[in-house]
Amino acid sequence: SIADGALQVDLDNVSFGYSEEERVLHNVTLTLAPGKVLGVLGRTGSGKSTMARLLMRFYDVNEGGVRLNGVDVRDASLSEVRKRVVMVTQDVQLFSGTIRDNLTFFDPAITDERILQAFTELELLEWYQALPEGLDTRLGPSGGGFSAGEGQLLAFARVFLADPALVILDEASSRLDPATEQLLTRTVSKLMENRTGIIIAHRLATLQQVDDILILEDGRIVQHGEREVL
Ligand code: ATP
Ligand code: MG
Repeated sequence: SIADGALQVDLDNVSFGYSEEERVLHNVTLTLAPGKVLGVLGRTGSGKSTMARLLMRFYDVNEGGVRLNGVDVRDASLSEVRKRVVMVTQDVQLFSGTIRDNLTFFDPAITDERILQAFTELELLEWYQALPEGLDTRLGPSGGGFSAGEGQLLAFARVFLADPALVILDEASSRLDPATEQLLTRTVSKLMENRTGIIIAHRLATLQQVDDILILEDGRIVQHGEREVL
């Protein structure tokens, strides 16, 4: 089984296609050391989200291997992989209900105290204190009444509560106002503390806190190195 603690991620000569005829990733090889954060850039359709899906084993590779702490994901249980690796996608799923329920999914083990601890560690207390009814604040259908940025904040808090070893953020391309963007950036850096991270972005500007950057083009790595060097 995958050992505890921050995860090392290895993609070893990975090729993958959604159909037999067409590969969308070609010979992708990379290592991400435990606790490091990797930024992934590339045009639309270059294979960024596909790479993320392989790490969660939504699909099996056609060639090569995906390893977490040295364990091939095909040799680990799906539930174990999904417990250690969590992805935040572009469309955050919120439902009509209280903020509490949106964070806990009705799991009574996640107490209000734990939620407030999460807000504290993510430096979201100020945001939380401005909510009209605290954790009892209700969201409308599909998260109505909440901005896209606030939806992201809730998604980050969910991830924090799940406490995964590898966090993958697949960023939305939509632009947010600068204040919200700044709040989200700070929250992400808190979320990534003591975890391995992958941030898929559309602009280099949103990758200020990553260690390394990788650029995909048509399913191939065309650049990979330290952020400062690129
Ligand atoms: P974006 O920046 O738009 O999110 P991306 O870099 O994440 O793009 P992917 O979504 O990984 O790109 O797509 C890579 C290629 O695989 C594209 O050609 C896309 O059309 C194709 N593709 C993605 N998802 C599927 C799927 N579920 N079934 C079939 N083909 C897919
Ligand atoms: Mg994508």
